[in-house]
Amino acid sequence: MSTVKKKVVIIGGGTGGAMLANRLPRDEFEVTVIDKQPHNYFWPWLLYIAFRGSRRPIKREIRSVLKPWVNFIQSGVGGVVNLQDRYVELENGKRLEYDYVVIATGGATVDYSRVPGLDKVTEMFGNYHSNEESAWRVWQTLNGMRGHISDHTGSRCL
Ligand SMILES: Cc1cc2nc3c(=O)[nH]c(=O)nc-3n(C[C@H](O)[C@H](O)[C@H](O)COP(=O)(O)OP(=O)(O)OC[C@H]3O[C@@H](n4cnc5c(N)ncnc54)[C@H](O)[C@@H]3O)c2cc1C
Repeated sequence: MSTVKKKVVIIGGGTGGAMLANRLPRDEFEVTVIDKQPHNYFWPWLLYIAFRGSRRPIKREIRSVLKPWVNFIQSGVGGVVNLQDRYVELENGKRLEYDYVVIATGGATVDYSRVPGLDKVTEMFGNYHSNEESAWRVWQTLNGMRGHISDHTGSRCL
């Protein structure tokens, strides 16, 4: 006797979305991951870029981190997750029906402009947690620093 698989749509192929997709039993669920871009990022590695100048890649194709039986669609979700009729609408207007929907679109983004001047500082010196480009700017900033330390014996150049 064959059972009808439940359809699971996971919006977001980052850490949370990919882990869930790979763990759902394939004989019970037909899983589809949707992401607006093609890469799965290992965000903690930004620290190694910003503070160690690491050049190791921090991203992989989402398709490559998903089990072969998990479907992947690269598309943004145009703001429509219809809970009443249970469908997700893709950017191209196509509707994807589901039994269960999971929204795994990540955490907060920082609005630096809320603190006067902070957006300019971040633009100049980078930050270690947004993206690779910004983390590189932190590394370059740190490497370009010149300054003086002083103690009771005088001062010396760093
Ligand atoms: C510098 C740094 C260090 C960290 N260190 C640690 C650590 O040591 N330990 C730890 O546990 N965690 C750490 N974290 C946190 C960890 O990386 C996050 O908690 C984790 O990535 C969150 O996973 P997520 O799936 O919720 O979101 P994400 O991994 O951000 O994935 C969200 C996905 O949703 C997609 N998406 C967003 N909007 C849409 C949309 N409208 N339509 C389609 N797709 C969409 C995005 O493209 C993205 O692929 C660190 C984070 C940073 C930045």
